[in-house]
Parts: sequence; structure tokens; C-alpha cells
Amino acid sequence: MTFQPITPRLSMLRLGMVNCYLYECARGPILIDCGNPGDGPKILAALQQRNHHPADLSIIATHLHVDHIGALAALQAAGAPVAHMNPRDGAAVAQGNWMRPMHFAGPFAWFEDGINRRMVASQRGAPASIQPDAVDGAILGDELTVIATPGHSIGHISLYSPADGGVLICGDAAVHFTAQPNISFLYEDKSAAVESFKRLAGMSFAHAVFGHGKPLIGAADSAFTLRAANLKL
Ligand SMILES: [Zn+2]
Repeated sequence: MTFQPITPRLSMLRLGMVNCYLYECARGPILIDCGNPGDGPKILAALQQRNHHPADLSIIATHLHVDHIGALAALQAAGAPVAHMNPRDGAAVAQGNWMRPMHFAGPFAWFEDGINRRMVASQRGAPASIQPDAVDGAILGDELTVIATPGHSIGHISLYSPADGGVLICGDAAVHFTAQPNISFLYEDKSAAVESFKRLAGMSFAHAVFGHGKPLIGAADSAFTLRAANLKL
């Protein structure tokens, strides 16, 4: 299992249904998201292939969901540093909470109360160390600008790099399974999720990568603009 190159600075590690990313710049390696519980050894092995020790990393987590922060405490136990998060999601992660109740689109909406009861109660783990400084407009690692994209979760962030033609690291503010990027099928606040997607669609970037789904390489902003034009509440 290796990090697959996307741009000269950015590479992607597929961890089953979820992806995490490595952004390598002058300030050093930045790990963006941390996979599910149990993914720690896979991430550490992939980092070792690139000669990165966990203590050399910076870590940014896009949001509190278990498939993005599940291995964070394990990575920190192996020497990785405190993770940058938005304070609205980071406070929960620091207390060992890995999910909040969600709303579901499509047929899952009928079962959301039951799913939420089980999911929120079961998805707890070791508290992780969080630095709650990933607020809108903050620049992390000298190159990654925080874009607040609430909706999928209340404290969700995306990241933008102007390098290599402009790269958007969406987290789960958008998914890309079909021809077009789209909002996720689950969210805490759908109207905020739609507004966040439209905000991203107003930006200029060549490439986009996602927590779930395949990268969009070249003219990625046009694909967002096209989808945003008919995205409804
Ligand atoms: Zn998520």
C-alpha cells in the first residue's frame, strides 16, 4: 500500500472506502486525514516508504468522522504531533467522540434515528491531541489555506494550495464517485453543505481530491461549477 502521486506535492493513500493524503512541501510532510481505527500501521508503513517518521509530520484533519480521524490517536502514540482541526469538530475529537448525529439522503433517511443511535454510541475511541486553529483563512504548513466548508459536519474544513495549478483538498465537502462531483449523501446541515459546495465551485483550481472517490485532474473547477448550477436544497 503506497501513496499514489496526484501532483508533484500531493499523493493519495487509498484505505478501503476512504482516502488520506500526503502533501510534501518545504515545511515538511503534511498528512491530511488519518483513516479508520486500525489503519495506523498501513499509514505508518506508507510513510516509511517515503522516508517520513511520524514525528516529522504535520497533521490536519478535515472533520470528526471516524473514517478520517480513527487512526489519529494511534499515529500520535507512534510519535505524530498534535493535529490541526477546526474547533467546532476538534473539541469532540479531543474528548474521544468520533461521530455526531447525521441526516441521510435517499432511502437511508427512513432509518437515520436508529443508525444515529448505534453509530454515535459505538464510535468512540482514545482522545486525540487537537490544535483547534484550522479556521477559515488560516494558512497551515505555509501553503495550505483553510476553507471552512460546514455542512457534512459543522466544523468541516477543506484545504486549498495555489501550487501546481491550484489544488483543492475537499475532505467530505464533496464526493466524486460518478461523472460529476457532488455533496455527500449524509450531512449535519444540508443547506450549509450546499452553500459550502457552491463556495468551492466559485474558486479557481485545476485539480481536486476527495475523502471518498477518485481525483479530478485538470479543469476540476469547471466540473464543480457545472454541478453547483443545478444543486438544490
Ligand atoms: Zn465524513
